[in-house]
Parts: sequence; structure tokens; C-alpha cells
Amino acid sequence: AGWWDHVGAAPKDPILGVTEAFLADTSPRKINLGVGAYRDDEGRPVVLQCVRGAETKLAGSQFLESLPNAVNTKLVEESVQLVYGKETDIVQERRFAGIQALSGTGACRLFAEFQRRFYPESPIYLPVPTWSNHHNIWRDAQVPVRTFRYYHPDSKGLYFGALMDDIKSAPDNSFFLLHPCAHNPTGVDPNEEQWREISHEFKVKNHFPFFDMAYQGLASGDIDTDSKAIKIFREDGHLIGCAQSFTKIMGLYGHRVGCLSILSVDENQAIAVRSQLQQIARAMYSSPPVHGSLLVSTILGDSQLKALWEEEVKAMVARIIRMRAKLRESLEKLDSPLNWEHITNQVGMFCFSGLSPEYVDHLARKFHIYMTRDGRISMAGVTTSNVDYLANAIHEVTR
Ligand code: PMP
Repeated sequence: AGWWDHVGAAPKDPILGVTEAFLADTSPRKINLGVGAYRDDEGRPVVLQCVRGAETKLAGSQFLESLPNAVNTKLVEESVQLVYGKETDIVQERRFAGIQALSGTGACRLFAEFQRRFYPESPIYLPVPTWSNHHNIWRDAQVPVRTFRYYHPDSKGLYFGALMDDIKSAPDNSFFLLHPCAHNPTGVDPNEEQWREISHEFKVKNHFPFFDMAYQGLASGDIDTDSKAIKIFREDGHLIGCAQSFTKIMGLYGHRVGCLSILSVDENQAIAVRSQLQQIARAMYSSPPVHGSLLVSTILGDSQLKALWEEEVKAMVARIIRMRAKLRESLEKLDSPLNWEHITNQVGMFCFSGLSPEYVDHLARKFHIYMTRDGRISMAGVTTSNVDYLANAIHEVTR
């Protein structure tokens, strides 16, 4: 008898499975709208110029030893300032525990472990829908997962009333995961007024807000604007947890650079919390890779490279917004009987199209167009030369 006879195959990841199907398709017309990776208008992957600049600056430097305690202090400080602003008391009074993480996924996972260690009974509340991996991450950390309503399929917008009801009916002192901007997969964000109401209710219930910030800048094109939600919570005095990812916003996908930060009441508490995070990371992977984190801290710490980065983020967002407008316009020109306003109302990398799983299957079979079965379109895969083909295909399957 073999050791692993009882091991069956794990179910395919819904997002990674799309890429597999796309790669297996030999049609020259095929389009991958599955994975959320930015592409230029020719459909090519992009290395940002700010990253090239940082590589040049770093070339030949002596940095190959890993940094003590899994912390690149500079990366952590720059990251925290990106979210909370340079001038905040948090940074000046050192009231945050921050640690470099293996991108956004790793930051979420570290937090989930930390949560389980100190609040073993508490569940995490996830929005419906959310990035599918959130469920896996908290499940594997053995934290019970609950959900709260977020999105309304009819309006293809925020289900604000139900969201507030679910926040109110959760037991006091619950952990909630929030997407501060460019919600994945829906592209639907609360507006400022709604964020204020959410923050207020969190205060009343003493809930803990954990923000998964994977797209700062990619909603509005502006880094500061996109951290508005977190700043609103901050003004209300919440202690916040935040996962940051540089995957999409700097195009550093394979480098796995991210940060987890947790606010504390004072510096001593921050030191204690950080030491626990370091201990958790130490047992999981000891220390994170160095090169990507140096790229990020070099860009954020150099005013010219940072300005260049901000321009490049704006350009990525502008292209996505143009493609949203074009896709909607093309569908309307075809006299589609359906309403496509949500394509331009939603923000960020994704359009939650409302296409049913059957329509998604049709698009793949008949038109070689691939997306996740929840109808999420990665707008970054849409280009000037495929947008009409896409609109036509969507119209054909839905008419
Ligand atoms: N959170 C959300 C909401 C995401 O969409 C993603 C990327 N798809 C991540 C976290 C993690 O990405 P990464 O680990 O590549 O930073």
C-alpha cells in the first residue's frame, strides 16, 4: 500500500483554471480575460519604467543577504505611508506593527494566522462575492469563515442596505475583511458617504476592519484617492489591519512584494505585535525574498521614480477606462437589449459583467474568449484590436 493512496486531486482553482483552458486553445482569435494581470494595448505584459529605473539604481549593490527578522524596515515604512499618508501620527509615533509579506496573499495569510493565535474563536466576515482565495486563506488558517452581503445582481452595484444590516447583525467585536478600493471581483466600491456610515457602524459594534489593499491607485488612477476609505476609518479612531500588494500596482507579479501592517495604541504594543508576526513568518518561510522589496523601497524612496510610478499608474488606469467606454459603446451600437451601464460604473481591473456561467461557457466554446465562470472580465485583457470582437461575441450569446 502506498502512503498517498487516499489522496484525491484537489479541485481546480477557478482563476488559474481559466489560464489553462486559454493556453490549450489554438485559435488565433483567443482572448484571456481571466487572470488580473495588466496588459498594454497590444496585449503584452508590461514592465514599468520606474521598475527599470530602480533596477539600474540597484545594479551591483551588495544586498544578497536576507534582512534580519524578515523585515525590510524601509519597505514597511514606505508602504505604511502610502496607505495612511506621510504626516500621520501613526508613523510619527510608531503606532504600527509592519512586516514585509509574500505579496497580498502572504499578507492575508499572516494576518489570518495572527487572528487565530489571539482570537481563536472569532470568525472572519468576507463579502459576497470576494476574491475566491480569501476563502482558502482563512480556511487553511483554521479561522471560521462567515459572509456579509455586498453586491446586488440586479443593479450590478453595491447592496448597501443589506451590507449595513449584516454589519449590524454580526456579533460585536467581529473581524471583517473589506476591499478599500477596486473591489475584486465586482469593481463596485462604496462612495465616501457610505464609507463614513460603514466606519461609524464598525465603531458602534467594535468590529475590527481588515483591509485587503491589492489595487491602490488602480481604481481612480490616484494613489491618495484610493486610500480614502482607510483614512475615513482612521479618523474614526479604529485600529486597522491592512494587507498591501505591489503585484498589480507596480507590475511586480512574480516578485511577491507586499506588506502587512496592524495599528496599535502605542509603540510598545506595536513592538509586541510585530514580534508575533515575525515569529509566525519565521516558522512559515523564515524570510521573504530581497530583490523585489528593494525595487519597491527604491521606487517609493526616490521622488523622481515615485513620480514616474504615479504617472504609469495613471496611464494603466486611463487605458482600462477607455476600454470600458469602448466595450459599452460597442454593445450599445449593436442594439444589445441589455443594460451595460455597469461596465463604466464599475472601477478597477475587473468588470463584473453579469454574464451567467452558461454564457461564459458559450463565449469560450464559440468565440475562444476566456473568463471566470462568475462572469468577471479582466478589463486589462481588452485592447483596441479585440474590443469589437468581444462586444460582438457578448452580443451574440446574450441576444
Ligand atoms: N487580494 C485581492 C483582492 C486580490 O485581487 C489579489 C490578487 N488577485 C490579492 C489579494 C493577492 O495578490 P498577490 O498575492 O499577487 O499580491
